[in-house]
Amino acid sequence: MKIVKVETFLVPPRWLFCRVETDEGVVGWGEPIVEGRAEAVRAAVGILAEYLIGQDPLRIEDHWQVMANGGFYRGGPVLSSALAGLDQALWDIAGKTYGAPVHALLGGPVRDRVRMYAWVGGDALGELAESIAARVEAGFTAIKMNATGRMPALATMADVAGVVDRVALAREVLGPSRDVAVDFHGRASAADARRILPLIAPFQPMFAEEPVLPDRPHLLRDVVTASSVPVATGERLYSRWDFREALEAGVAVVQPDLSHAGGISETRRIAALAEVWDAKLAPHCPLGPLALAASLQVAFATPNFLIQEHSIGIHYNEGADLLDYVIDAEVFRFTDGYASRSDAPGLGVEIDEAAVRRADQDGHAWRNPVWRHDDGGLAEW
Ligand SMILES: [Mg+2]
Repeated sequence: MKIVKVETFLVPPRWLFCRVETDEGVVGWGEPIVEGRAEAVRAAVGILAEYLIGQDPLRIEDHWQVMANGGFYRGGPVLSSALAGLDQALWDIAGKTYGAPVHALLGGPVRDRVRMYAWVGGDALGELAESIAARVEAGFTAIKMNATGRMPALATMADVAGVVDRVALAREVLGPSRDVAVDFHGRASAADARRILPLIAPFQPMFAEEPVLPDRPHLLRDVVTASSVPVATGERLYSRWDFREALEAGVAVVQPDLSHAGGISETRRIAALAEVWDAKLAPHCPLGPLALAASLQVAFATPNFLIQEHSIGIHYNEGADLLDYVIDAEVFRFTDGYASRSDAPGLGVEIDEAAVRRADQDGHAWRNPVWRHDDGGLAEW
């Protein structure tokens, strides 16, 4: 079997899909994307495709090595995400060829269902309580929300209180047996993270995410030891080497993104590395159906998996949603806040190719907002 064609599709709201076709008619799909940089990833996929055409798709690890390390310049979000989507597509082809779900090829399932958390995107306190209650009503046992909107260089007392009030309200609505995860998005300074985490600790959030920017791993240990709140990070880390310093600093949860961190192959290795520090895996996934399907395959086969993010109903999905591109939405129907295991081959999701080709004709030019402080200086988004 040989790879004969690699195509990419720029689809709303902000995604990029790839389709890898073989001479035996087996087709694999993947999602190579960096949100806001989709066109750059598309170009990188085109370069990697020059190598893949004519190759046996089942030599996944060898192709991974060439795509990751065969170029003198390597790593980073664009190249690692191009690699990630193609890796997903190769695993999809392998599963379809062998008639097995990817989790079976990874050693078989270690769990029967996967716990999911739902996003709550509201910014006002009243709206937040209603949004959380709706997620609980839908069966979810965990939610994630932003800790804060725009944060000044150093937070005022009111900014700090704003974060604490949100977490307190979430705990009140959720009760003691459900979980709230709090995403700082790298918006607070390390000094503010050290100040805020002890104040939200009494409400026992499941984890605090990106309390410092990912390029500051040398500050993580101080933040980790500032409180009892488990610290999570990793959506902007791209390889096992990138995760080493965060793990050494004592993060409790690693969050590689299946579409950024070298795909299924590398995320499995990051999870194994995390086990050494007793850290748990919670793959980042505010993305489309292929990234989520790949995440679930890893979740079913990975012992130290914790919980899975998904983008259904997320505040970013304006004008299109994950279910628009799948033939059978049933695979993403969650029961009591859990995804069920399926024995469907490959990634286990059937893509509506006609819908994808139609969507690609309009494409998108999604960019993240640029935020400014009151004095006009650039603020973290
Ligand atoms: Mg995040």
